[in-house]
Amino acid sequence: MIVVLFGAPGSGKGTQAERVAATTGTPHVSTGAILRAEVARGSELGREAKPIMASGALVPDDLMVRIIESRLAEPDAAGGVILDGFPRTVPQAEALDRMLGRNGREVGLVLYLEVDPDLLRARILQRAATDGRSDDNPEALAARMRVYQRDTEPVVDHYVRAGTRIERIDGSPPIDEVTAQILTVLGASPAPSSTASTIAGAETAS
Ligand code: AMP
Repeated sequence: MIVVLFGAPGSGKGTQAERVAATTGTPHVSTGAILRAEVARGSELGREAKPIMASGALVPDDLMVRIIESRLAEPDAAGGVILDGFPRTVPQAEALDRMLGRNGREVGLVLYLEVDPDLLRARILQRAATDGRSDDNPEALAARMRVYQRDTEPVVDHYVRAGTRIERIDGSPPIDEVTAQILTVLGASPAPSSTASTIAGAETAS
């Protein structure tokens, strides 16, 4: 199943997507991570994306759609993926529908991680202090929040109109509790903590 993990910057999408991927064996597709890898490689795409990402703006839709199209064409995506950070605009959501529709597929579930805005801001500023992401500074954060409200929130209405199953998840509690809520919605049982890392390791190795 194609699952869209949706939420504001700082809602914990990336962390939760990673954990759910490790437990269910479903590939985690993060467009932010793909772009950061391109920036680190110094590729043409990376050089184009770097200043856009640092400012908190969005990379152009056509570029993002091409990235996702090639990622979804990889063999490991045939059984479904967890999309993290895509689609971020209504045109991206429409392009995703068209691309999946050509192969008789569709988005099966939208998981909407909802977190109080004050908690979001606190989490991102804390991440800025620990992870050193170039877009986790107060100016870029404000831009990302504006972009989220203007361009990304309307994506939920797109899925409401399409009749896609949407599950709202309270993203405020501690990480383990949020993961448990998501796994319940997916009908998957939590992995014992001792095996979770083994599964994640096996994923990386394959
Ligand atoms: P993320 O790790 O999902 O927070 O993404 C980090 C940055 O990468 C965003 O602030 C955007 O600049 C860019 N980005 C990631 N995904 C997308 C997308 N689907 N569309 C446009 N820009 C994106």
